[in-house]
Amino acid sequence: MNNDEQIYDYGVIGGGLGGIISCFILLKKYPETKIVWIDKDRFTCGDLKKYSCVYANTPMNRMSQFLKELVPFYQDCLTLCTKREECEHYCILSDFVEELKNLTRILQNNKYIHCIMDTIHTIDNTDKENNMIILSTQSDTTISCKKLVMATGCYPKTLDLDTPCIDLYKALNKCIMTKLKYQNKKIVVFGNRHSGILVLKNLYELGYKYITNVVRSDIKIPEYIEEDDRELYDQIGIRGFTLQWAKTNLIPNKTNIQIIKKKDDEEKYNKIIHEADYIIYAIGLEQNNLINIKYKNKVENNQKCYTNIDYNAKNGLIDENIYGLGIGFLNFSIYKDVYECEAGMYEFYEQGMRIL
Ligand SMILES: Cc1cc2nc3c(=O)[nH]c(=O)nc-3n(C[C@H](O)[C@H](O)[C@H](O)COP(=O)(O)OP(=O)(O)OC[C@H]3O[C@@H](n4cnc5c(N)ncnc54)[C@H](O)[C@@H]3O)c2cc1C
Repeated sequence: MNNDEQIYDYGVIGGGLGGIISCFILLKKYPETKIVWIDKDRFTCGDLKKYSCVYANTPMNRMSQFLKELVPFYQDCLTLCTKREECEHYCILSDFVEELKNLTRILQNNKYIHCIMDTIHTIDNTDKENNMIILSTQSDTTISCKKLVMATGCYPKTLDLDTPCIDLYKALNKCIMTKLKYQNKKIVVFGNRHSGILVLKNLYELGYKYITNVVRSDIKIPEYIEEDDRELYDQIGIRGFTLQWAKTNLIPNKTNIQIIKKKDDEEKYNKIIHEADYIIYAIGLEQNNLINIKYKNKVENNQKCYTNIDYNAKNGLIDENIYGLGIGFLNFSIYKDVYECEAGMYEFYEQGMRIL
């Protein structure tokens, strides 16, 4: 398809995991639906590529299951799945990025999908007469669609402190951290979930001398609860190689890493922050919200994981006919008083199958 004046059945903004999943689900659920798929960055698999040298927290068998769910109707993809052994092991994210690149190519060659590389700056959903959603791009074009999926992703959250910070993606990359040569600097790492632990592992293994980890609570390890046949800390708990490393080194702490809880010793916390040369934030995410949305029927809701773009976590609605999917628009669950946002490829897939 290449007619820019065309009205599309669906628009999908975002070429990351959430966008890829959205396109596959739409093709699966609504064959012959016309889709316009838009990304500002050449469809290079979104933020996952930035973290490609990092251990995944999704085991291989779940990845394989995910790929099989996505592609069973596309003959040329079947080889992707057979490469993945049915095992409990965890891979490095770059392996998964390779798979996503293949999936992206398959979507780009699909005759029902028109790909556009551009940045959307405005979504106008106020057309009550024709019910058309108008997307305006940075290159001054407009795109019309009847329904829209925003899979626009997130960026790592930071705090409002004066100390210079090292980007999370850099801190997760051992090569970059080696080149920085900050081994004698005082580094404070906020957070002790999957990314936080991996940052600590990098710094420790690279011989950083002064590392403090500021945490809100102890490291969470997923616990299987037999009576309910489900896991406590399913999402916020650490897994795989990350868990192995934490068990060997941090639980109990056998490293030079100083671990503190702000609420237990405010004075010590203030001193550490005051003396720190660099801070690394691994404290969760915030939505990318650079798009101006003109709402038709703004969703009234109190069920979200983030604070900037309102959406209904259960049905994914941001506005009438506009859905959110991927890391920026998570569903959540509460189990045994533990609130957990459901992130990950399989979770996005399940959410997409339910809401789209
Ligand atoms: C250390 C680490 C380990 C992880 N391990 C796993 C794992 O094991 N398994 C797993 O499933 N997940 C894992 N993740 C999470 C995973 O990286 C993200 O959940 C996922 O990549 C998010 O995909 P997304 O499509 O929602 O967002 P993104 O990947 O951020 O994609 C958003 C896309 O939208 C585009 N975009 C944004 N705004 C606009 C605009 N205005 N106009 C046009 N395009 C726009 C961007 O260019 C981007 O391509 C991990 C993350 C980290 C940090």
